[in-house]
Amino acid sequence: MKPAARVEHLPPYLFVEVTRKIAEKRARGEDVISLAIGDPDIPTPEHILQSLEKAVRAPANHRYPESDGLPELRQAIARWYHRRFGVTLDANEEVLPTIGSKEGIAHIAWCYIDPGDIALVPDPGYPVYSVGTMLAGGDSFYLPLKAENNFLPDYDVVPDEIADRAKLLWINYPNNPTAAVADLSFFERTVEFARTHGIAVCHDGPYTEVAYDGYEPVSFLQAEGAIDVGIEFHSLSKSFNMTGWRIGMAVGNAEMIDALMRIKSNIDSGIFQAVQIAAITALDGPQDAIVDHNRHYQARRDRLVPALLDMGLEVEPPKASLYVWAKLPAGVNSGEFASRLIETANVVITPGRGYGEAGEGFIRCSLTVPDDQLDRAIERLAGVRATSLA
Ligand SMILES: *Cc1c(COP(=O)(O)O)cnc(C)c1O
Repeated sequence: MKPAARVEHLPPYLFVEVTRKIAEKRARGEDVISLAIGDPDIPTPEHILQSLEKAVRAPANHRYPESDGLPELRQAIARWYHRRFGVTLDANEEVLPTIGSKEGIAHIAWCYIDPGDIALVPDPGYPVYSVGTMLAGGDSFYLPLKAENNFLPDYDVVPDEIADRAKLLWINYPNNPTAAVADLSFFERTVEFARTHGIAVCHDGPYTEVAYDGYEPVSFLQAEGAIDVGIEFHSLSKSFNMTGWRIGMAVGNAEMIDALMRIKSNIDSGIFQAVQIAAITALDGPQDAIVDHNRHYQARRDRLVPALLDMGLEVEPPKASLYVWAKLPAGVNSGEFASRLIETANVVITPGRGYGEAGEGFIRCSLTVPDDQLDRAIERLAGVRATSLA
C-alpha cells in the first residue's frame, strides 16, 4: 500500500523521537528525567473534577454533542474573555469550542489554504502550524524569530509578493518555545500588516494564564481591529491543568469561526458534554488555582535558570509560558547537545532545532516536572559545562 504524499511528507512528531530515547534508557533501568515536554504535572483542580463526576451521571450527556458545543459553554467562554481581557464576544457567532486547541489549529488550514497557497509561520514554532498547512496542500513561508527582535517576527522583511499571496499568518504569545511575550503594540502592528495584505491572522494563545512576577499577558483580540482580521485559539490545557481532557476554543472573527465550524462539523462530532460542563465550571469558578500553579512554576524557574547559567548557557528568566529557552555557546549544536546530555546526565531537554531552523543554537526546558525530579535534574547538571558537550 502506498500512502498519500501528505503522509510521506509528515515529519516525525517532535516528541516521538524524544519519547523513544527515554523509553530505551528506562528499559535499561536508568532514571531518566525529562524536561522535554510541556504538560502540567499538577492535577486538575478538585472542583473541576467534581463537576465532571456529576455530569458523567446525566444520561443526556452520553449522547452526541452538537459540533458547535453547548450554548452554555460558548456563553461561559464569552464571559471569561470579558472578565479576563475586557473583550466582548458574541457567544453564537464569535466563539467555537474545539477538541483541545491543537485540533482547531490543524483544521483552520483547511478553511483558508488551497493547494499552492502560503501560510506565514514562525520559526521556531509549534509544529502544527506548518504541518496543518502542508496537509491542506499549502506551503509555509517562515518568519524567523530572532533574539535581537525579542523573538517577534519582523513583518518588514516579508517580501510584498509573498505577503500579498499569503492567506494565513500564525503568531503565538506567550511563545512556545522561546517563552517570549508580546505587548498590544505588536498585536496592533500585526493587525495593520494583515489588513494591508488581506491575510487572516491566527493567534495561538494557550499560555496567557501562565505568567510570573505579576506580569499579565494580553489577548490579540484586545488590539484595535483584531476581530476584523483574525481569531485567537485558547485552551483549558495549560490554564487549568487539563491537557488530557481535550478542550479548547477558537474566538474572534465571525467569518473565520463559521468556516472552522463548517469544516469541523464534517469531521468531528463535538466534545463529550460532561467535559464541556466541567469546562464551564473551570471558566466560571474560582481562578485561584492558576495563581497557585504559577507560583510553583515560578519557583522552579528560579531554581533552573541559575543551573543553566552555571553550565555556560545564556538565559533570560521567562515572564510567561512553561518554558525556559536557553542559548548554547557558539558552535554547540542543539541536537548533539541534547543527545550527549541524555547520555552523560540522564536529563532530557528539547533541542531548539526541533522547532525550526532558527531554533538551532538553543534548547528548551520545561517547568512541568515535579519539584523532586527537577532538583535531581539540577544536581546532575551541576558540573556539566555546555562547551564540553560540543
Ligand atoms: C500546548 C500547546 C497547544 C495546544 O494545546 P491543546 O492541549 O491542544 O489545547 C497549542 N499551541 C501551543 C503553542 C502549545 O504549546
